[in-house]
Amino acid sequence: MENKALHILNSTFGYSEFRQHQQSIIEQVINGNDAVVLMPTGGGKSLCYQIPAMARKGVGIIISPLIALMQDQVAALQQLGVSAAFLNSTLDEVTSSEIEQQLLRGELDMLYVAPERLMTGRFLNLLENAPIALFAIDEAHCVSQWGHDFRPEYIQLSVLHERFPHIPRIALTATADEPTRKEIIQRLALENAEMFVSGFDRPNICYRIAQNQGNAKDQLLRFILNEHESDAGIVYCLSRKKVEQTAAWLSAKGLNALPYHAGLSAQVRQQHQHRFLTEDSIIIVATIAFGMGIDKPDVRFVAHLNLPKSIEAYYQETGRAGRDGLPSDAWMMYGLQDVIMLKQMMGNSEADEAHKRVEHHKLESMLGFTEITTCRRQALLKYFDDHLEEPCGNCDTCLTPVETWDATIVAQKALSCVYKTNQRFGVTYLIDVLLGKDMARIKQFGHDQISVYGIGKEQDKKQWSSIFRQLIARNLLSVDIEGHGNLRLTEQCRPVLRGEETLHLRKETKQAKSSQRGRKSFNNVKDADKALWEALRTCRKALAEESDVPPYVIFHDATLMEMVERQPQTHDQFSKMSGVGEKKLEAYADQFLDIIKHHIDTAANPTSSSDTVEETLQLLRAGMKADEIAAHRNLTATTIYGHLAKAIELSEVELQQVVDLSKNEIKVIQNAFLNFGDEDKKLKPIYDAFEGAFDYGLLQCVRASIDIPM
Ligand code: ADP
Ligand code: ZN
Repeated sequence: MENKALHILNSTFGYSEFRQHQQSIIEQVINGNDAVVLMPTGGGKSLCYQIPAMARKGVGIIISPLIALMQDQVAALQQLGVSAAFLNSTLDEVTSSEIEQQLLRGELDMLYVAPERLMTGRFLNLLENAPIALFAIDEAHCVSQWGHDFRPEYIQLSVLHERFPHIPRIALTATADEPTRKEIIQRLALENAEMFVSGFDRPNICYRIAQNQGNAKDQLLRFILNEHESDAGIVYCLSRKKVEQTAAWLSAKGLNALPYHAGLSAQVRQQHQHRFLTEDSIIIVATIAFGMGIDKPDVRFVAHLNLPKSIEAYYQETGRAGRDGLPSDAWMMYGLQDVIMLKQMMGNSEADEAHKRVEHHKLESMLGFTEITTCRRQALLKYFDDHLEEPCGNCDTCLTPVETWDATIVAQKALSCVYKTNQRFGVTYLIDVLLGKDMARIKQFGHDQISVYGIGKEQDKKQWSSIFRQLIARNLLSVDIEGHGNLRLTEQCRPVLRGEETLHLRKETKQAKSSQRGRKSFNNVKDADKALWEALRTCRKALAEESDVPPYVIFHDATLMEMVERQPQTHDQFSKMSGVGEKKLEAYADQFLDIIKHHIDTAANPTSSSDTVEETLQLLRAGMKADEIAAHRNLTATTIYGHLAKAIELSEVELQQVVDLSKNEIKVIQNAFLNFGDEDKKLKPIYDAFEGAFDYGLLQCVRASIDIPM
């Protein structure tokens, strides 16, 4: 059996070895036993059920909550030559029933279904009559009522065990703290399953959190422009309005930013998601409505403009960056307003007391996490009962150690101010009092007469705001739940007020600093290789469009990088690239080998034309049109046509490869040059003769194709 699994890994998926627990998990399931798999995003969960589904007789039924994910996975499997299908509400009757027939005939290796479809009596009956290899329950944490992704249909999945007691089940998730783990086991009746826990670390993600000092948008823009200018990324905001504003602002600054939230029509959402998946360098600005089930491997950054409600949510959302294992950023801005707003939302929540307590505790943990002055990764992993020996060196607190200061006296001033104003005011007012502002409102309450009036002038407004934020985050102050934002003292503040405890707060830094190590892998590509990298990407894009799948379904960035590095020249060498299985070798090797060969040839023999012309030609050969090349290279179309015309003149490329003209049109234009052009074949007379029907670029190329009569 071992050989069978390994054989599938090599020949179908094109990978040479299993990762950490994959092999034991796969063995467990192939042998007919149950498994619970906790593995971080990008860890390689899919193979854990895909290989057993292929190795065992019958079809593997995969229960997955999100439609986008299913379609993607199925497209990717079909590319690998695996017989996979999905059933969900997007399919019409005819297609659905055809797939059901395939299921009954045992023609499928894998079938992805939405839980609500699975749980219908009709479908369960259907399953009774089909050969089934296994049940895989993906995103198993959706069963948890405490979790943020709770799905009621998931609770009913225990039925599977009752109706199909002999079929192995495998439940998988990337987010599960201890209580959630227990819930998964209990609710899905997986007491006899073996549990496989992989480390939660995502070493390629650099965690960075900075304080919003009122300029979060500018900081975001700077971050993207400096570090991720042509990358794909996700920006999370709390409200729909902020999503719209942020997307509009980023677009106005020249970035490809698209909004995504539940208030947009299904069609617009679908369209934006599609562009995100299929184009390079799209930024999605979204509420948390976006993301689950987004399997895009090359998301290079996830930015938060608001604080997530829990560490689980933070971990999951940031986890959408860098699934391919290449360096990525989790970047967050948060401020006093976030803290106050979330605390109020929680206070006003409709949930019952038990729920509220859990939610509250989760928020406290999140706030604590943002304020820590030690390694973020160590803290994050600890939260998931995981462990990291040394500080990671790849988070903001490691990269720029946080300075702290003794804030005991200042905190006492702030706390006294809350007390002396009878715990009836919000932060803005309290700061005004501390600063001794000359304001009618303060006088009206007589607060210009109290001892704390003007005792805080040594700090400015921003500094006070940071101090209050930290006091709230540390629970020395609480926010009232009636919604006015009044601050109150808590039990915890007493020792500080009485001077029995000193308090160290963090000094704010301006910008979450980036890691320089291993940053921007693609920008590290040598200049000479850049043209190859771009040509390979263009070729991938063209192939993806032909098959109507996202580019990474053809090959991942990591595979293309390997092509740049190793420059394979034969099928045999090509087959050794990670991610190249039998099917993809057959389907794509020739196209990519051509491009690599051409690259090697021109590098060895760079005589025929200058480098810049060569680069244009490479892009052309990879399938780009002239105006696409222009946009891509940031050159004008005129320049590109100039390159192309030169290449045509030197017979390096055929006219028909360059222009979209029929043979007849070409003939007519050529004749025009010969018959009524002037001596040096100027373009303008011809342009005018056709009344502008053919633009200058085209004419230039056609002219270049004319043999000059001796
Ligand atoms: P998850 O579902 O855990 O987030 P995936 O199953 O999508 O992760 O896998 C993440 C990436 O790792 C995918 O590109 C997958 O093809 C790749 N991968 C998984 N297992 C291996 C392996 N044994 N060797 C190389 N790549 C692998
Ligand atoms: Zn660290």
